[in-house]
Order: sequence, then structure tokens, then C-alpha cells
Amino acid sequence: MIKRCNEWSWEGVEWKPYKDNPGSWQYVNRQNLFSSESAAFETRYFEVAPGGYTSHEHHEHEHCVVVIRGQGEVKLNGEWHPLHLHDLVRVPPFTPHQFRTIGSEPFGMLCVVDKVRDRPVLVDTPVAAETSK
Ligand code: MN
Repeated sequence: MIKRCNEWSWEGVEWKPYKDNPGSWQYVNRQNLFSSESAAFETRYFEVAPGGYTSHEHHEHEHCVVVIRGQGEVKLNGEWHPLHLHDLVRVPPFTPHQFRTIGSEPFGMLCVVDKVRDRPVLVDTPVAAETSK
């Protein structure tokens, strides 16, 4: 089964907000690309618009993230690292992490996770609060 991609939208896949609850993130949308009854993992595409960022959070489940669009940064254990096209990020269990866009192009990444997973726990205040100091 093939889902064709056109302009960063995969056939038959809905665009949704990153999370239901606002406040800890900004300008992020997602597409759930793959979820199957016979698989223990899921694959999502997250896209962070310029000026946007994901929640600063931690949890037991791991993330495998591959950058497929634009440029961004990842905060791991409190330290920001630049990310470029096709870089891969492993977020180990219980590691605080956050992503944000750098530049004027949307920052897009594939993320593979366990289908059954614990809920994220917020670490602290979002990026906007940091930069307004
Ligand atoms: Mn996470």
C-alpha cells in the first residue's frame, strides 16, 4: 500500500494540531502516517512553522526522529543542538527534549514511537518565555 506525498501532505492523511492542549508549544502540526494493528510502532510527520517549537517534555518512551525538511534545533538535557536535513535524533527514555525551527522554512521531521506509550510530562516554561527575558 502506497500513500503518495504531494507538497508535504500524504494521501488520505489528515493534518492535525501537534497536541490537543495549547500553551506549551507553538505553530506545530502533525500527520499520523502509519499505525497498524499488527505493528508495535507508529510513524508521524511533524512540521514546525518558522517561530514555532514543540513542548519541552520527557517520558519513558523513546523517539527516533529524522529531519526531512528545513532546519531546526533540538534541546536535549537542557542543551540546544543544530539539526540539518537528514540528521537523526535518538531521544532516550526520560530525556528532556524540545524542537524548534531555525530560519524561514518549515522544519519537518519523521518520528517513530511505540504505539503504546506513556504520556509526556512538561519540563518547564516554553521557549517564548525564555526569549522574552
Ligand atoms: Mn516527546
